[in-house]
Amino acid sequence: MLQRRIWWVFLLVLAVGVAVSVRIITLGDSVQAVNRMFIAEKLPLSQRIGELRGVIADEERLLYEYYSYTATRDAFQTQRALNRARLDAIVDQLEKDVDSREQVRELRTRLIALDELSDELSKTLSSKVVNWDLARAILAQVKPKVRQIESTLAAMSAANQRAVDMLGNDSRSSVSTMVRWVIGFSVLIFGVAFFVGYYVVAIIREGMERRRLAMFAERNPNPVLRLGTTGEVSYANPATAELLARLNLPPNDSGKLLPEEMQHHLDEARLNQASNRQFEYTLGKLTLECTVAYLADFSEFHVYIKDVTARREAEENLAYQAFFDPATGLPNQYRLREDLGKAVEQQRAGTVMMIVADREQEIFESLGAVETERWLVKVALRLRDGINENEETLYRFGGNAFVLVCWPGDLAGAQRRAVQLLGTARRPLHVERRELFSTLSIGAALMKSAAGSDPAIMAEAQVQQAASACNRVRRAGGNDFAVYDEAMGRAAANTLRMITDLQHAVENQELLLHYQPKVDTASGRLVGMEALVRWMHREWGMISPAEFIPVAEDTGMIVAIGRWVLREACRQNAAWQKAGLQPIRVAVNLSARQFRSDNLPAEIDEALAESGLPASSLELEITESMVMEDPERVIDLLDRIRSRGVHLSLDDFGTGHSSLAHLKRFPIDSVKIDRAFIKDMPGNIDDVAIAKTIVAMAKALDLSTVAEGVETDAQLELLKTLGCDEIQGYLFSRPLPADDFLAYYRAKF
Ligand code: C2E
Ligand code: MG
Ligand code: MG
Repeated sequence: MLQRRIWWVFLLVLAVGVAVSVRIITLGDSVQAVNRMFIAEKLPLSQRIGELRGVIADEERLLYEYYSYTATRDAFQTQRALNRARLDAIVDQLEKDVDSREQVRELRTRLIALDELSDELSKTLSSKVVNWDLARAILAQVKPKVRQIESTLAAMSAANQRAVDMLGNDSRSSVSTMVRWVIGFSVLIFGVAFFVGYYVVAIIREGMERRRLAMFAERNPNPVLRLGTTGEVSYANPATAELLARLNLPPNDSGKLLPEEMQHHLDEARLNQASNRQFEYTLGKLTLECTVAYLADFSEFHVYIKDVTARREAEENLAYQAFFDPATGLPNQYRLREDLGKAVEQQRAGTVMMIVADREQEIFESLGAVETERWLVKVALRLRDGINENEETLYRFGGNAFVLVCWPGDLAGAQRRAVQLLGTARRPLHVERRELFSTLSIGAALMKSAAGSDPAIMAEAQVQQAASACNRVRRAGGNDFAVYDEAMGRAAANTLRMITDLQHAVENQELLLHYQPKVDTASGRLVGMEALVRWMHREWGMISPAEFIPVAEDTGMIVAIGRWVLREACRQNAAWQKAGLQPIRVAVNLSARQFRSDNLPAEIDEALAESGLPASSLELEITESMVMEDPERVIDLLDRIRSRGVHLSLDDFGTGHSSLAHLKRFPIDSVKIDRAFIKDMPGNIDDVAIAKTIVAMAKALDLSTVAEGVETDAQLELLKTLGCDEIQGYLFSRPLPADDFLAYYRAKF
């Protein structure tokens, strides 16, 4: 483009140059012609006129000399002939030079007239008797004749001068035209020089820019190639050779770096020019990323190749870390969700089984985190050993939870598989030379795929279903198998609502306390009461603490609820005492979270101070698992509470795994035998034996015993014989609202 423009300018300059030269040559020619004419014609003409004047003056002088005898007749004659000859010659010459013939003719006539006058004078003076008067008269005529000739010559001279002036003007104008042309041309040349200079600089700059751009490819650490339409390589940068060398391929054959189906990619890139085409391929051990750009203007391809092997490996590593459990090598819960999502999409039928290793908490407490993880790895290995890889996949869901997905799934199959797993779990595992016995809780859900539903949500729902079936098993003590049913789903849905509503239960004053009497076994007298919380829900009515306390515990709302219960129980008991009733103790249940909080002693003090209840009228119920968590801290805490005069009792005793011997360490006042052992009394001999042992050992440790859930006289009688100190149960009273309890209270005293 730029070059073409410069070519045009060059041609223009050439054409103008030629035109200017031609013009100057013609102008020069005309100036020269004028000069030539001036030298050849006009200059001699004025000389001749001058000469003629001289001859005329000679003639006149000769006539006067002849008249005055100063010249002789012969000399006069000779001189006259000479003059005549000169005049003739000059006039002949003039005739050639002068433009106006008229003037020459007039000159000749006047010269002849002068000549005739000369003849007449000569004749008069040469006669024998000279007539001097006549001669004088003739001589007097000479002067006018000469003047006439002079005027003719002056006219001729003037005409010549005019012609010379005209010629002079002509050549002056020619010269000034020439000067104008030369100046114009010079300006043009100057302009062109400027223009060309400007563009030459631009071209040089462009060239440099191009060289600089070319360095991009040259110095690029990744291979860059230029390919023709049929795929032949027309340029390859130095990095191409380096990559070929790394692959042990011949250095000059850059085409070897391209995949076999390159032509296909080129065709695609040409079809879709708007965007670059990118793809990956493997060559030897390397993974290469190739980007193809089609340059329509040049009908060629630019190909950029990048070695992405390291990146891919890192990505694979990351993917592994993201989707596999490093301890067991099993796929994790994220992989599970992906796999299930795909299965839902493909409408595959299967069973999801949530498998949880029981007793994890206990093992953790006695062995610590590292050994517990070691144990869980062994559990995982054992589960994996029995797997049929074509039909089953085992995932580590997290912690002590595993998920087994079986294809295809049916209930009978799931049940068989569960029984098998429960069986294998019975054999002990060895960790750190210890024998660990554990069981499994298994919950199964059958996969359902509803058309049009979101696979991720469906997958999540299936996991949730298996988990809630498993939780049911765990709540019932573990070592069992359950299949998910719809009722469980409803309970879970309610839980969500419960969480939201529970947040406002305290402030909305929806919580209230019921009180259940504790009665002295021997005398049947009221000796205490247990405060049991109730939730009066706007829509659902009265909700049992068994339902919402675990939810409150999980979400942390138990802290606020627990504080309210403690203060309310103290306030109520104090109110009754102030009303003059016989003082009895009110027992308040503590939650694990409340018990863990460092604030607990302060909260107790606050509740007592606020209500004015004596500390001896307050009892706190804690469970075995709470005290086992961190015995050192717990002993310290219990000491602090007990030092205030508050009573402490161990609730639900016997359901945990600790032995009574352990209890020696803890500063407590009484033990509540769990309802589970009372329920089947006196028929169940085992339960009777356990209750008996608990009472005996408690006595030995100087602890009083309370039996919970006593419903029948037979149970009461038996507990009496065993020596149990106090009784709590429906036999005497259900938990009662404060007003009803007041009536009972009054009646019993
Ligand atoms: P718990 O402390 O063992 O309370 C005794 C439970 O047994 C009460 O159930 C009571 O109604 C029930 N019960 C008493 N006598 C009988 C009987 O003869 N037969 C039968 N079948 N049941 C009987 P409730 O009130 O539903 O409380 C359940 C559990 O909720 C309590 O067990 C306690 O662990 C927890 N809880 C109750 N109130 C509170 C509270 O204020 N704070 C905390 N943290 N937990 C509470
Ligand atoms: Mg209790
Ligand atoms: Mg209890």
